[in-house]
Amino acid sequence: MSGILDGKRLLITGVITEQSLGFGVAKYAQEQGADVVLTGFGRMSLVERIAKKLPKPAPVIELDVTDAEHLESLAGKVREHVDGIDGVLHAIAYAPPSALGGNFLNTPWEDVATALSVSTFSYKSLATACLPLMENGGSIVGLTFDASQAWPVYDWMGVAKAGLESANRYLARDLGPKGIRVNLVSAGPQRTMAAKSIPGFEAFEEAWTKRSPLGWSLTDSEPVAKACAALLSDLFPATSGEILHVDGGFHAVGVERTEQ
Ligand code: NAP
Repeated sequence: MSGILDGKRLLITGVITEQSLGFGVAKYAQEQGADVVLTGFGRMSLVERIAKKLPKPAPVIELDVTDAEHLESLAGKVREHVDGIDGVLHAIAYAPPSALGGNFLNTPWEDVATALSVSTFSYKSLATACLPLMENGGSIVGLTFDASQAWPVYDWMGVAKAGLESANRYLARDLGPKGIRVNLVSAGPQRTMAAKSIPGFEAFEEAWTKRSPLGWSLTDSEPVAKACAALLSDLFPATSGEILHVDGGFHAVGVERTEQ
């Protein structure tokens, strides 16, 4: 059976558990015919264990996306497994505890800087580190949480995501002439490690469950994976700088669902 990613070579970041959005994308991408290489951060033996749970065990390269040496050596390490790549998934975010949970007015700059460095600037760093592998063009996809408005508890991560959404447009501008598309998927809440570290995250879970016109599962990341896979495939050849909402329709409606 042919898949939408047949013959595509993908680099996928941000896998730490089977709930990770990156894991869901890697799994679906393999099911659709892609060859997947993963990156892991810090806890490499854990990532390697999770990588073995994919339909086809994937190789794992160590990448701290804030480490200049890791970024410089990334292309060479990827070439040990594939001769180039057609797509990259950026599924990386982190903010120190003081930057989340309702402390917005008191968060020190150092912690804001960490959030921006890992969650925003890294999109550009990963893209440029992968350029030598994408000489024939390709697709870069990242993950955001709708930054068009202020949320409870999301605080400086919301600011970091607003920056990510802007960086998405600038990367689309600068990489388009190289045949590289750059797009974000704006996902509704999912119970991943990153989400669980946000105090008060239940507020999103409750709101999404009540308001999404299509309804929303907090534990099924396949809709997000399918959208990322579509953007990584050849199905969106003229789309770049876009933010595709995969949130059950939540962003489009103003109040809770009423039974009709
Ligand atoms: P996750 O499973 O915890 O994945 C986040 C990943 O980022 C982890 O693998 C983490 O590694 C990695 N990471 C942190 N610092 C890094 C660094 N310096 N270098 C490289 N990797 C680093 O959570 P997730 O929810 O799937 O997050 C993936 C993306 O989806 C994030 O951009 C997140 O903001 C976005 N998103 C999530 C939701 C949601 O509700 N879950 C909604 C919308 C968007 P460690 O765990 O080892 O630190």
